[in-house]
Amino acid sequence: MSLQKLDIGESRYGIYVEDTLPSCPECSSEFTYEMGALMVCPECAHEWAPAEVAVEEDGVIKDAVGNILADGDTVTVIKTLKVKGSPTGIKSGTKVRNIRLVQGIGDHDIDCKVDGIGPMQLKSSVVKKV
Ligand SMILES: [Zn+2]
Repeated sequence: MSLQKLDIGESRYGIYVEDTLPSCPECSSEFTYEMGALMVCPECAHEWAPAEVAVEEDGVIKDAVGNILADGDTVTVIKTLKVKGSPTGIKSGTKVRNIRLVQGIGDHDIDCKVDGIGPMQLKSSVVKKV
């Protein structure tokens, strides 16, 4: 493990560069350091929030257009879905409130209650966040 101390004057942060810090997205420098919530590159002066460059996190569930979904979100169904036991199924445009993200059956990853249908599971690929 290599540690390198940076000379940044009067900073109140005790700053060490560790191998685990992300390298600079601009110039790929490895000598980046944390400043509050930001990452700073001393070589090209680029500052960024690490979350912005985070690679696809595990377990993130996205809707049909790439919005990240969270528990409690309201979504609309973007295509008509057949539902066993329901003559109408779920129509495209149906609003579903207060979804819950789950590891469901198959690729079903949303647990919710649909008006007029009842509790059921949906795939995130057929909904759009409102
Ligand atoms: Zn840089």
